[in-house]
Amino acid sequence: MTGQINAFEMAQRQFDGVAKLLNLDPQIAEVLRWPMREYSFRIPVRMDDGSLRVFQGYRVQHNDARGPNKGGIRFHPSETFDTVRALATWMTWKCAVADIPLGGGKGGVVVDPSTLSTTEKERLCRGWVQVMWKNIGPRLDVPAPDVGTTAQMMGWMMDEYSKLVGEYTPGVFTGKPLGGGGSEGRTEATGFGVIYTVREAMKFLNIDPKNSVAAIEGFGNVAQYAAIGFTEMLGGKVACVSCWDRNDKTSYTYSHKDGVNPRFLLTITDQYGTIDKKKALDAGYILEEGDKWIEKEANVLIPAAIEGHVNADTVKKISKSVKIVAEGANGPCTPEADEYFKANGIFNIPDFLCNAGGVTTSYFESVQNDMNFYWTKEEVLQKLDTKMTQAFQAVLDMSLKEKVYMRDAAYMVAIDRVVKAMQLRGWV
Ligand code: NAD
Repeated sequence: MTGQINAFEMAQRQFDGVAKLLNLDPQIAEVLRWPMREYSFRIPVRMDDGSLRVFQGYRVQHNDARGPNKGGIRFHPSETFDTVRALATWMTWKCAVADIPLGGGKGGVVVDPSTLSTTEKERLCRGWVQVMWKNIGPRLDVPAPDVGTTAQMMGWMMDEYSKLVGEYTPGVFTGKPLGGGGSEGRTEATGFGVIYTVREAMKFLNIDPKNSVAAIEGFGNVAQYAAIGFTEMLGGKVACVSCWDRNDKTSYTYSHKDGVNPRFLLTITDQYGTIDKKKALDAGYILEEGDKWIEKEANVLIPAAIEGHVNADTVKKISKSVKIVAEGANGPCTPEADEYFKANGIFNIPDFLCNAGGVTTSYFESVQNDMNFYWTKEEVLQKLDTKMTQAFQAVLDMSLKEKVYMRDAAYMVAIDRVVKAMQLRGWV
């Protein structure tokens, strides 16, 4: 979240709305409106030139009634305590809707990581752990990479924690590289998870996947595997994908008369999800500047790039044939877009259900770390499919039973599960 919006106020407002729908006891609601524990701390780091710099760090543990807290650590120059609070709160709901036995956490450091050398980044990561190690752990709170942090950083952090506790403890951080305690299937997890929920929505709506066409925004990790899943698992066609071009400072939509071939596009895409324009043109792709992806003839829209792009202005441009909007990105659709979907009978798969494949596979990673026994990619993806399908079904059932929109239903399922766990433990 950026600009003037206070993300935590927004998270609380969303929660208040659903608490009302659920007729939640106001005293119980008061517990869930706030994080259970919050850490704000300073991390002194020796810089390469010998000077000492002090960084502001955060960790917020929103609610761990259902299990250890889970959530990324962001390194971002405009990180604030309230952003971390909001993101931790949303993690509680995401883990609960996916029905994984974890709570909600988030962490951060106020820093632009691109201004640090590799050795400075390593000292900052180790410094974060030196402050927090007594309050994180496989049974307490399991951080992961997020904006500005990488698998390598998780490796350093896991190593520092292991040194401090005196034993190899890979399950304290997830998002580690393969061979360093990471899980097979993590790369595919979020995009494939999106497609498992699209498949279930199609079953419910009686839509034939083989005659379906998707328009996808983005071509980063989530969009790439959503496109592969849509063509290879469902047998549908992908009309277009899009990406941000750093050199031209604009976005482009890539389409092809026969539908795009995501496996081919992957071979000409860099690590930031930017497609090589020239190679795409040479292969017969059509390039259009701006947000044309949203106007393409399709029955499934998958915004999988960035927040807020399906909004009051753009939503009116979507094709009349769109029946499903699957939110691969976090927060891609604004409340105005939601109103349009409701008025036009468009089925929405809300972000914290649709893209929960990532955190679910992170959970699988820590389970494998705990057992010190690793599953094959097929096993991971099979387990992921089962979890995502069950999560989708629970939200759909709630939506039909309470006659509410899918986003409200997802919140209702999540909050209900957390409240039950608190009651079972005698907290409320
Ligand atoms: P990524 O950085 O790998 O890819 C982002 C893609 O979006 C790139 O192709 C980029 O070019 C494109 N993009 C950026 N700005 C754009 C614009 N203005 N117009 C068109 N395209 C644009 O990111 P990702 O990991 O694929 O994540 C995408 C979204 O999904 C984010 O909202 C992220 O928070 C969310 N998400 C990701 C995961 C995960 O496991 N990767 C899990 C849950 C949620």
